[in-house]
Order: sequence, then structure tokens, then C-alpha cells
Amino acid sequence: MRQNDLPLHSLADELDLLVIPRWIVPVVPARQVLEQHAVAVHQGRIVAIVPLSATTSLQVRERRELPEHVLIPGLINAHGHAAMTLFRGLADDLPLMTWLQQHIWPAETRWVNGAFVQCGTELAIAEMLLGGTTCFSDMYFYPQVAARAAQELGIRAQIAFPLSDGPMPGVADSADALAGGLQLHDEYRHHPLVSIAFGPHAPYTVGDELLQRVRTLSDELELPIQMHLHETAGEVADALRQTGERPLQRLQRLGLLGPRLQAVHMTQVDDQDLQLLREHQVSVIHCPQSNMKLASGFCPVQRLLEAGINVALGTDGAASNNDLDMLGELHSATLLAKAVSGMPTALDAHAALYMATLAGARALGLEDETGSLEPGKAADMTAVDLSGVAHQPVYQPVSQLLHTCSAAQVSDVWVAGRQAVRDRQLIGIEHNTLIARAQAWARRIQQGDHHDA
Ligand SMILES: [Zn+2]
Repeated sequence: MRQNDLPLHSLADELDLLVIPRWIVPVVPARQVLEQHAVAVHQGRIVAIVPLSATTSLQVRERRELPEHVLIPGLINAHGHAAMTLFRGLADDLPLMTWLQQHIWPAETRWVNGAFVQCGTELAIAEMLLGGTTCFSDMYFYPQVAARAAQELGIRAQIAFPLSDGPMPGVADSADALAGGLQLHDEYRHHPLVSIAFGPHAPYTVGDELLQRVRTLSDELELPIQMHLHETAGEVADALRQTGERPLQRLQRLGLLGPRLQAVHMTQVDDQDLQLLREHQVSVIHCPQSNMKLASGFCPVQRLLEAGINVALGTDGAASNNDLDMLGELHSATLLAKAVSGMPTALDAHAALYMATLAGARALGLEDETGSLEPGKAADMTAVDLSGVAHQPVYQPVSQLLHTCSAAQVSDVWVAGRQAVRDRQLIGIEHNTLIARAQAWARRIQQGDHHDA
């Protein structure tokens, strides 16, 4: 069904909301930019996208005019560790393993508890909403705390509960983590915004036995699996030396490859990997800024896209980025795709926007619910203000969005029809309180560091 063909009489008697932006980029149909149109929303869902001339007779509770703005589907941050906002800037300019083993893991062992995760996750959600993200995937300790934070602050989330054979804050062992995760799934099974996934951390922290258990349960419950995979050349080389298999081969042997697998990073992709990803319809989640900052390598996005592989976009945690700005991430992704492929035509603005919206929804199994502005889908929408000096003149709004915008230009955000940001201000979230709490954590962490030194 095409939205423009939708008969107007199918609109509700009185609509909750009519958004009237300068441009609408619905993402479906592909590459369309509408002008002189409005998005009609009722009971949290998009009812229709209608020509402006047809809106005068509509009964509407709220009309939101955004005369210099482009309206896009809410952005989907398909990979991150939300609570790590509290470690933002704690340890920079280090390679992945040094960063993890000497800085992040010790800090996590020392500081992470339920209160830490609540504070860090709330800070992350506030930052993401202000930057136009309406859905995020999280993989961090105390997943029940992150799920509750998403529910309470009103953002869509996939909570991938972490699994590892090593010790993890908040659980006795991996069996305990698994039981807790399954209980969380039971709790959120019918929740409109929060869904649960398995989050086996990485091939080098999760053994075959645990992965087989995940595979069986994922098949039974039809739950997604998100895993860091082929993040660095070193990871693949170590695996080859120790087992004779590349990590992706190992996952194939264990039966984990499939459309429900979300492979995060994939900076190392040989011909056989490419074939496996394509054959099993695995989604890849590209985290360009984290990969560049840790010098982990470059995901060959253009090759993956040419092979028909679904590629979504994520910021990764704030400790390795160091922000959760999806428009900034998009800019990096589009430039990096060109640099890596040697093709200026690689990942153009529309393809990049698709990656940050509908491809993310597909990766998370949410494509029927979000990722595009289509009648019937949840009203997850982001408006970006192109009126500033740096965005003028506007020939192609999507190009401007990709190459000149960041979170700072996001003005209005709705999640399932509820306005979460209006005129660049969070609604229903006290951001000053969040900042004060985060600063208090930073003081404790810093004082602890000095004490140890
Ligand atoms: Zn990560």
C-alpha cells in the first residue's frame, strides 16, 4: 500500500497529531523526498502521509509546523553499551585489548552496579533522544535496569543481555546470566517498546557450550542474538591459531548463523565470510567511529551492500566513540565507505539514511514496527532543522542532513507518537538532575583512580 493512495476517509475522526515539515523523507519508497505533505498520527501510529491541500478539513488535536525542517524516521542505534557514558573519556587513544584489559574491565569490576547502570543508561537515553535516536540496542550488565530505564524514559530498545564465560558484575556465572535474561524476556514479552535479545559478548569470551545453549534457546524463543564479531585482525588471527577456524566459521559449525544474528563490527571479511553472511542472511552492524578510534580496522560496507547483506549502524559505547550522535556516525560512515572502497559513489546520502533507519529495524527484527514513515507503523519520527547558516542553501535535504548536520540540529522527536523532544528540549526528563548524578559518579571514579595510583 502506498501512503499517497490512502483514501482520506480512512483517517480517524479526530487525529492526535499532524506534523507539517518542509520536507519528508519516508525512506520507503526509497529515495523519495516529499514537499507540501504532512504526516498524520493517531494513537501512536502513522495513519497517513497526505498532501497539504488535503489537511485543512482534518480535525487535529495538535498541529506541529516545522517550516525549515526535514522529517525522517527516528534513527536506530543498532549497537551500544549505554551505561558506558559514565566512562566517556576515561581512557582514550589505546588499542582495543589494552583499552579493555587495562582500563575498561578493571573500571567495570570496581564500579559497575545497578545504580551505575541506571545513571549511565538514563544519561545515554537522554543524549540519544536529543540526537534523534528513537530506538537503540544495548548490551551491558544489569540488563534489567537498562530495560526499566528505556521503559520509563519512553524510548524503543532491544536489550541484548550480556553473556560471557568470565565473571560479570551482577550475576554469579553465565548460567545465572542466562536465567536472568530469560526471565527478563518473559517480563517484556508483550511490551510495546522493549524487546530482549541474547548478547554473547564475543568469540574470545564465550565458549562452544554456552554458544550452543544460546543457539537452542534463540531457535525456541525466536529471539535475536547480538555479538561482537571480527572486530580486529588480531581476533581472527588468534582464533585461527588456537582453533584453526575463523570466528564466523566457528559460529557456522555451532549453528548460530541466520537472519536473527546481528554481527557487530565485521572489519575482517574474506570471500568465504562474505558468502556465509549472505547465505545465512546475517545482519552486520557497522560502528565506524569506534572502529576508527580503536584503530580496529574498516568494515567493507560497500562490498557487503553489493552482496545484498543488511548493514545497520551503531555508535558502540560512549567510551570508544565518544558520543552517541547518530547523525555524526552517519557522516563518518558515508565518508569512510568512500575512502575504504576508493569509490566516491559508495554509500550516498539516501543509502546511508537507510542504514541508520530501516536497515537497523531489519537487523533488530523490528521492521514491521519502525524504521520508515509508513501508514501502520509506529510514529517514531525525528525532525532536523536545516535553517542554520551552515546548511544553506538547500538543494538536496538528505545530502544536507548527512554532510552538515549533527545531533545539535535535531529539534523534535517522537517515539510511538509521544513527543520526547520539542524545540531541542527533552520532555519529561530532568536533564540537570541526570548531569549532576553523572558528575557525582565521575568524581567517585576519579578519586578512586587517584587513591589506587
Ligand atoms: Zn560494542
